[in-house]
Amino acid sequence: MERVLLVRYGEIILKGLNRPIFEDALMRNIRHRLRNEGKYKIYKSQATIYIEPAEGDDQTDRIHEKLKKIFGIVSIVVAYKTEKSMEGIYNIIPDSIGDVLKNAKTFKVEAKRSDKKFPLKSPQICEEVGGFILDNYPNLTVDVHNPEVVVHAEIRDDNAFVHTGREKGIGGMPVGTGGKAALLLSGGIDSPVAGYMIAKRGVALEAVHFFSYPYTSDRAKDKVLKLAGIVSEYVGKIKVHVVPFTEIQVQIRDKCPEEYLTLIMRRFMMAISERIARENGCDALVTGENLGQVASQTMLALGVTNDAVDMPVFRPLIGLDKNDIVEMARDIGTFDTSILPYEDCCTVFTPKRPATKPRLEKVVKYQQLLDCEKLIEEAVAGVETIIV
Ligand code: ATP
Ligand code: MG
Repeated sequence: MERVLLVRYGEIILKGLNRPIFEDALMRNIRHRLRNEGKYKIYKSQATIYIEPAEGDDQTDRIHEKLKKIFGIVSIVVAYKTEKSMEGIYNIIPDSIGDVLKNAKTFKVEAKRSDKKFPLKSPQICEEVGGFILDNYPNLTVDVHNPEVVVHAEIRDDNAFVHTGREKGIGGMPVGTGGKAALLLSGGIDSPVAGYMIAKRGVALEAVHFFSYPYTSDRAKDKVLKLAGIVSEYVGKIKVHVVPFTEIQVQIRDKCPEEYLTLIMRRFMMAISERIARENGCDALVTGENLGQVASQTMLALGVTNDAVDMPVFRPLIGLDKNDIVEMARDIGTFDTSILPYEDCCTVFTPKRPATKPRLEKVVKYQQLLDCEKLIEEAVAGVETIIV
């Protein structure tokens, strides 16, 4: 028995001229994500993408799992394919959806006929298939309002399909349709979630990570690469730019007042990220900042940080509670890696009493005690880029 995956995508963004761009991007992303899943046929017809695996059942399950992580997919149906006739439909019902039917009490049939030359119209198909099911599954009665099982019978151009309903996809828009942004990726809980949220709106990602060897270990770097790897299951390939940050942190520590250490450091992070972003065709920065979470994320502190760059900065977690962020991290699959105990560069040089109501002029004045341009250029020159 052949199983086929039917993928549906959102309706609202499909209006007008954007539709082909959106569909092509989604098809491309699906192909790319399934490149190691063996042979299959993929085509679209009537706002549905069909994926027909060529190599058996295992492959269908693997493809199904991958589809659950592709943005732009609103629903996924595993349908059983048969010849385009009522006989064909009757023949596969027992083996395909028979178990579901045996274990329910009520059902209804919904039919769809996109081949208008098929001899029966949709209401007749419903009636015939319903009759067949009633004859063969005496446990069932019809309930058109609130059925336990909805049997879908679809007559398409070349084949007929039977299934019992769709499963939700992760939604969003196909990655790449919204440009590309640079995610400031730490080893924490927040930034991978922030990246996921922006990618869900169709944005491809590169990542920038600040690394303070020997204050932070190679294990901290591996952790970040692992996080990038988990996010890339949804986003596709991610270039991770690892920036040597020790010299900047040491100089800030030695030359600037302690209460401003974090903020000056964050301004450097933003400025360096912006350069890397521009060099790599990214048009915005993304951070995991969250209002009020720590001293460097008060409203005034965020203002000081933001002032260091011209590019738009997206902070999709700004108004969420930590609990909600943690829940998302668990759903996405990053949480367990994020809580591994390796130090990240911010925790190494944390002031005891950070400024919570910083004045921009002051911070800028202290930052100018350093040769910022030179430090930034050296850091950018030392970037190591790893593709995950
Ligand atoms: P996270 O859980 O993402 O580490 P956080 O609550 O620890 O966030 P901060 O350490 O203040 O918050 O960092 C705020 C944001 O700055 C992070 O979400 C991330 O986007 C960025 N950031 C912090 N440290 C780094 C780093 N070492 N490399 C790259 N980006 C960083
Ligand atoms: Mg952090």
